[in-house]
Amino acid sequence: MLEAIFARLDEIHQEMIDIRRDLHMHPELSFQEVRTPQVIAEYQRRLGLDVQTEVGGRGVVATLHGERPGKTVAIRADFDALPIYEQNDVPYKSKNEGVMHACGHDAHTAIALGLAKVFSENKDQLEGNIVFIHQHAEEQNPGGAIGMIEDGCLDGVDVIFATHMENYFPVGKVIYSNGYILAASDRFEIEVKGVGGHGAFPQDTKDSVVIGSQIVGNLQQIISRRVDPLKSAVLTVGAFHSGEAPNVIAHNAIIKGTVRTFDEEIRNQIEKQMEDIVAYTCKASGADYKFEYDRGFPATWNHPEPTELLIDAAKSVVNKEDIVSIPPNMGGEDFSYFLQKVPGTYFFTGSANEEKGLIYPYHHPKFDIDEDALVIGAKTLASATIKYLKNNK
Ligand SMILES: [Zn+2]
Ligand SMILES: [Zn+2]
Repeated sequence: MLEAIFARLDEIHQEMIDIRRDLHMHPELSFQEVRTPQVIAEYQRRLGLDVQTEVGGRGVVATLHGERPGKTVAIRADFDALPIYEQNDVPYKSKNEGVMHACGHDAHTAIALGLAKVFSENKDQLEGNIVFIHQHAEEQNPGGAIGMIEDGCLDGVDVIFATHMENYFPVGKVIYSNGYILAASDRFEIEVKGVGGHGAFPQDTKDSVVIGSQIVGNLQQIISRRVDPLKSAVLTVGAFHSGEAPNVIAHNAIIKGTVRTFDEEIRNQIEKQMEDIVAYTCKASGADYKFEYDRGFPATWNHPEPTELLIDAAKSVVNKEDIVSIPPNMGGEDFSYFLQKVPGTYFFTGSANEEKGLIYPYHHPKFDIDEDALVIGAKTLASATIKYLKNNK
């Protein structure tokens, strides 16, 4: 079956390119997607799949029932775009000014639709089912995944796979990480509520600049002195705003930043210790405070068995030396929610091509991919799907 699927994926390469370019020309922002889910649902219905729309908001779930009994594999593809002015001069440039598919989600969708087509043509051979989870709103908190899961998109799913375009690697590479691959990404905002006054009469004030500065300093001790050095975490203060005039003591200070972690316990620990530091630093100076900690997506943790299976599956697509293991990075993804519910793995498909100038990373206004990545991503997912269904009868 694998050979037939691979041959058909090669044959429909141009169709996948056309789908990707059509989506690229019509990008839509997170939680505002209208045309994209329609295009997806219509395509999947034409193939004869069982299609549900408005899953968890704007998501689309299409199920292909194989004619032979077996397990259920889910393939997730996100489809939202970003608020970026595209700077590529290409025939398929965004027609929606200020919005751009700068993260390759157009490609992920084209891959999923291509797979739906070739697997539906071969469903008499298919030993199990494939659920295509077309997810809206990956780029913006709280993300589309949570809602789709609450709406039951994982019901009956045994394993889940997803790929993401990756311009830090050339096309032809398949990139994985066994265990953590992406971090949890949280934001915080602190307000120091002091007492303002005349710059010459500090005794009548509670100086928010001084107290805020102490907080920024004290927060540095969390990563350096409190977190286990063998665990990774980042705490960055990205903004500090306080005061207006040279002779006025500021009444308040706003401090904003981000925290990135992998381990959920470390994440909880940091949130708790941050609030303690803010509370006690303010208390020592007699000031009040507000502390807000917004949790973003949790860390993405790839399960060992599906990851091993994926590495094996990729060997039928690219050479062994083109399958690359990477350490986790501090980016974030709401695919993590799916992996908290069912086993699975998330991997990158190399999509850069230096000769063609396709070198800009995701979220860059000149991001674009080598479209050969469509076939490689699709084949890797197809191979993993077939292998999983065969191994788990
Ligand atoms: Zn992105
Ligand atoms: Zn993305």
